Amino acid sequence: MNTDIVWSNLLNELKDELSSLAYTTWFDDTKLEKIDNGIAYIVVPMPIHKKHLHDFYGEMISSKLNKITNSNYELKFYLQEELEDDDEITLLGEDNNSNEVDTYLKENDNVNNNLIKKYTFENFVVGNSNKFASTAALSVAENPGKIYNPFFVYGNSGLGKTHLMHAIGNYIVEHSNKRVLYITSEQFKDDIIKVYKKDDNGTNFNYIEFFKNKYRNIDVLLIDDIQFLGGASKSQEEFFHTFNNLYNNNKQIIISSDRSPNDLKLLEDRLKTRFTEGLSVNIYPPDFNLKKEILIKKIKAGDFEGDIPDDVLDYIANNIGPDVRSLEGAVTRLLAYSAMWGAKQITLDLAIDALTDFVNKGMGEKNNIQRIQRIVAEYFQISVEDIRSKKRNSNISNPRQIAMYLCRTMTDESFPRIGIEFGGKDHSTVMHSVEKIEKEIKANRDLANQIEKLKKDISTV
Ligand code: ADP
Ligand code: MG
Repeated sequence: MNTDIVWSNLLNELKDELSSLAYTTWFDDTKLEKIDNGIAYIVVPMPIHKKHLHDFYGEMISSKLNKITNSNYELKFYLQEELEDDDEITLLGEDNNSNEVDTYLKENDNVNNNLIKKYTFENFVVGNSNKFASTAALSVAENPGKIYNPFFVYGNSGLGKTHLMHAIGNYIVEHSNKRVLYITSEQFKDDIIKVYKKDDNGTNFNYIEFFKNKYRNIDVLLIDDIQFLGGASKSQEEFFHTFNNLYNNNKQIIISSDRSPNDLKLLEDRLKTRFTEGLSVNIYPPDFNLKKEILIKKIKAGDFEGDIPDDVLDYIANNIGPDVRSLEGAVTRLLAYSAMWGAKQITLDLAIDALTDFVNKGMGEKNNIQRIQRIVAEYFQISVEDIRSKKRNSNISNPRQIAMYLCRTMTDESFPRIGIEFGGKDHSTVMHSVEKIEKEIKANRDLANQIEKLKKDISTV
């Protein structure tokens, strides 16, 4: 049986039945590797797919597969690496709950959920740096309260945390009748202050009731920028109770922060512990390609009025950052500048003029993962795409490992960040490559010389 054909038939059917968002998130980059002994082995791109496909699409896949092949198979999901490492394949426990789907009638209650409608999954552009976060976010949105609770998103400012939170909220509101509330931790603090401010009779029953209604009669709480809750101990206390109340009733809690739960210095340990009980995901700064894609998508969507040529987009993506908010700021500034000068069209010269104050001075040099990739690729006469690819033949994978080693030793970039710039590899792959090259240099004179030469090329501008 040709597994590729079987799988592509199955995918074609799924494509018709699922929303394009669900289809691309869960079925892009999947493959039926083999069918063996009554078991269908399906390769998936990320660990999160294993559980999600098993729990929520398992029956659908099984029934289609059985129809196409006329026999019954058990499904096993695993990652490509698990196969390549020859390690034991980590399979899913069998204790998963049923595939029950909420069939709520959509009814419109007029609760103010504070959601910003324009932030959706559809206009959140996915790249290597945010793929895990956005996939997990969709998974939560599809199954609130069921899989990852609490769901904790963290990362530096301007990388899309708030956008993703609203996307989750909007998705849930659209697909169920669950009551959603989005607030910032500062709004929460304000509410707490009102609760504790006693009126003339020394009581504040009205506000206590209001507070309870607001925070306990909901199904999904999104709380943004939790780092600002820090320090205010009454707020933490109340948040702890609110959290427990919701959590114990299987209500979904979604939290964002500029740092990981463990790095939230002013937060009480018991809150940190609760935060780490679910799933925490990190959003990293976008790479060049993602920056450009985001800009193109925003221009297409009409977020910016004006025609921006490709070389100008390249210039912006190369020189502005590292976050998305400053990219948007740069484009706004460029358009204002061009209008101010009555420019007929936007050119690279105009952009350079307009953005002098915006350009992150160090960035050209600092962002030298790309530079190292280019120099190493030239040296070995392969392409930068090859270096960033998943190809495993040694004339490509050796230079790739050398490039990773050089990135790690010649820049301040972290393992995860390097992984992202190498086509979205896991940080453990980068670590492994760096260690391997370190070891080999000691034993292999030729390699040591090559690396010396490359280091020289990289340090000379
Ligand atoms: P954060 O909350 O992490 O500080 P925001 O969610 O406010 O960042 O994002 C800042 C801006 O960047 C918003 O306009 C948001 O729409 C945009 N943005 C960030 N990441 C993306 C993305 N992947 N696709 C589209 N827009 C994005
Ligand atoms: Mg934010």
